[in-house]
Amino acid sequence: MIEGVKQQKWWGWGEDGLAYRYEDKPKFPAFVQKMVGIDVTRPVKPIPPFSSLDVPASQLSDDLHAKFDEILGAKYVQTDDETRVVHAYGKGVRDLIRIRKGDLGRVPDVVLYPGTQDEVEKLLDAAVAADAVVIPFGGGSNIVASLEAEPGESRQVISVNMGRLSKVLEIDETSGLAHIQAGVFGPDMEDQLNARGWTMGHHPDSFVWSTLGGWIATRSSGMQSDKYGDISDICRGLTMVMPGQVLSLRPLPSSSSGPSVREMVLGSEGRLGIITSAWVNVHRIPEVRELQAYFFPTYEDGLKACEQIVASDAAVMMARVSDPIETQYIMANGKKSGRVSSLANKAIQRIMLQKGWDLENIAMSFIGFEGSANHVRYEKGLVGKIVKENGGLGVGKGPGTLYDQKKYDTPYIRDFMLDRGLICDVSETTTPWAHAAEIHSVIIERFQQAMDDLGVRGVVFCHLSHSYHSGACQYFTFAIADDSDHQEETYDVAKRVIQQGFMDFHGTVSHHHGVGEEHSPWLEQDISPAGVFIQRKLFEGVDPGSNLNPGKII
Ligand code: FAD
Repeated sequence: MIEGVKQQKWWGWGEDGLAYRYEDKPKFPAFVQKMVGIDVTRPVKPIPPFSSLDVPASQLSDDLHAKFDEILGAKYVQTDDETRVVHAYGKGVRDLIRIRKGDLGRVPDVVLYPGTQDEVEKLLDAAVAADAVVIPFGGGSNIVASLEAEPGESRQVISVNMGRLSKVLEIDETSGLAHIQAGVFGPDMEDQLNARGWTMGHHPDSFVWSTLGGWIATRSSGMQSDKYGDISDICRGLTMVMPGQVLSLRPLPSSSSGPSVREMVLGSEGRLGIITSAWVNVHRIPEVRELQAYFFPTYEDGLKACEQIVASDAAVMMARVSDPIETQYIMANGKKSGRVSSLANKAIQRIMLQKGWDLENIAMSFIGFEGSANHVRYEKGLVGKIVKENGGLGVGKGPGTLYDQKKYDTPYIRDFMLDRGLICDVSETTTPWAHAAEIHSVIIERFQQAMDDLGVRGVVFCHLSHSYHSGACQYFTFAIADDSDHQEETYDVAKRVIQQGFMDFHGTVSHHHGVGEEHSPWLEQDISPAGVFIQRKLFEGVDPGSNLNPGKII
């Protein structure tokens, strides 16, 4: 490991020693038992030690090794097994399944840690001159297989870890723009910005373990996108190192210089070059920040309310509503409540029953407000009215505050579940509002049918996570009880049925996880064969030798 560059554990999410715990959540075991028939309290097999893996030897040639040592210094040229394995995959559940059973794929031959743009230029030219494959690496958090080398790749494979390029270089306080190096992780970047009174406002669930360059390269979106925009809105300019040249796009609020090159780089997943820095929109830290919780009698009522909130003058920072099963999941993740909150919960339940709601069918919603105290008061007034008109009920900021504190712990749950033979992952899409309710019910129905056909127990639930003028993103989480040797095949069935459902019912292949290899089978249906033709010509033109992260996207 390189000092100052964070590295995730080789077999799962995040930091060694941190894990999801059910012991302080009294309702969680019963929820899982009811949904998929698994007893999460039963003892689990420990993760095998790293030494039990059969890691293929590095194929880095002595010549290229010497060249990289000269460019970077030997310390920043790593060929040890654990570093190479950590850089072999992202963190999709397929990756976790494979790595746990010792299926390591085509492990990179070397991991490089450049500290300057000049070093990135030199290493890329040296790698391409040796006809090697170059894969930029941010936090390694993607879930779409956008980092792994192609199976059987016979050329040398170079992973370029951007973690030493982690500085906020400049803040243009007049324009609200910051120039930031691409390898910075979310928390480190926000610490540097916050110290000067600014924030970028981009908070994906993977914030702790993902980087600015990775967000740009996958067209990421954070949970506050309703106010701050997706990364494609936030990133206004950038520098990208390409073989033999450097792309430099100045930060501009808008421009009509032909097909947008900035947009071509957004979502390029390392296929056009290595992004070394970007100019991004930044905002003054708001005076007030509040997450209010609401309940609706049904998910459809919650969807309608979100659509109206987005169309209103409220301009909220976040509008999220969970379907009934996800609502039960959120409740099951609650800690044992004290006497006062337990009484309050019972009082809320009584009100819902008096209103004639079916408690198994209710939908929980979090709406986020930011700005001056006056502005937040105004926004809450507007939202409260819309919630009421849609039959909803406000329950205050207690649950929202808890959600806000715990939001980055959630990713650890996938490892916990996999330890217990439960395959969990996610798929998200956007549709126009006109199709939002329909796609939700179709995906649930098709997924359940597929699980019945397979003869396994599975559950899928969903929340609306990001809203736009014309539609919204819905984010589906699924869990399947399968402890067999065929977990990958089972995952494939679930993934296929969900992705095809997106295509059949007006959705896109992915709202914010990108394409990688995982979603590329659906790309033609998403953007039409002509769209794929344009992308192919772009990649072939920029990278005729297919050295830059080949096989991703198309
Ligand atoms: P990596 O995974 O390291 O790389 C992703 C791709 O980008 C690769 O193709 C890589 O080659 C390329 N790349 C990385 N850095 C550069 C660079 N400097 N120049 C050129 N190419 C580069 N995503 C969201 O958008 N929102 C979420 O809320 C969200 N939640 C998640 C929750 C969990 C539990 C997990 C596992 C993932 C989640 N993701 C989410 C997906 C993932 O975090 C994003 O795709 C993220 O943008 C990847 O960033 P990274 O730095 O980890 O990139």
